[in-house]
Amino acid sequence: MSILSDIRQGMESVGELFFPRICPVCGGRIEGPNQIVCTRCMVDAPLTGFELLADNPVARRAWNLIPIERACSLLYYVHDGEWRHLAHNFKFYGRWRWATDAGRMMGSMLAESPLWGGVDCVAAVPLHPLRRLQRGYNQSEYLARGVAEALGVEYLAGVLSRHTYNRPQVKTSKEQRWDNVEGIFSVRHAERLAGRHLLLVDDVFTTGATMISCGEAILRAETDCRLSLATLFVSKQELGIHG
Ligand SMILES: [Zn+2]
Repeated sequence: MSILSDIRQGMESVGELFFPRICPVCGGRIEGPNQIVCTRCMVDAPLTGFELLADNPVARRAWNLIPIERACSLLYYVHDGEWRHLAHNFKFYGRWRWATDAGRMMGSMLAESPLWGGVDCVAAVPLHPLRRLQRGYNQSEYLARGVAEALGVEYLAGVLSRHTYNRPQVKTSKEQRWDNVEGIFSVRHAERLAGRHLLLVDDVFTTGATMISCGEAILRAETDCRLSLATLFVSKQELGIHG
């Protein structure tokens, strides 16, 4: 974390003394000190419950492609649902602090499940340096830091890198998405992963192509490493779940 972001974080904390905290989902006021969203939004959260199931739709997708231990997404991403505002806020509107809060929420939910106790380090799916420069940050890093903090395990910075710049994937077909991410990740200091159980974190699981490609690079670079995957959101449409 840079000095600049520490200062920024400090200023936001001071700001909260004078201005009420705003719910990143609905824009309403947050009442409790440790809540990241308002009570109404928490009650209405589109929870998947996948963190409590070893065999869940996200894990099944990943198992078909790479040997991972566990995988889950905690919330459904629904295109016209209110919770999409949380993802958009920290991805497009610079509210990286909400990503850390959301990461803490993810970590607490994983910690409450009996399935995730073996994880001993956390890393984020990296952005290409140019994309990171454009956005000023990688929201998945903030999510992953929050997850590591809540789980009480090490956050591994700088282990993964993305060496190919892809255009945004919004308008690409499913096949193009898989082609676009093939072999674009590399691992630095793979020895840091030896004998460990790494949890790889990203914001959204859509086709899974990005995470699977990143996971492949990890398992290729260090064979003595166990890998699990977690995202905050999974596309409901992608899983074929309607309603
Ligand atoms: Zn709300």
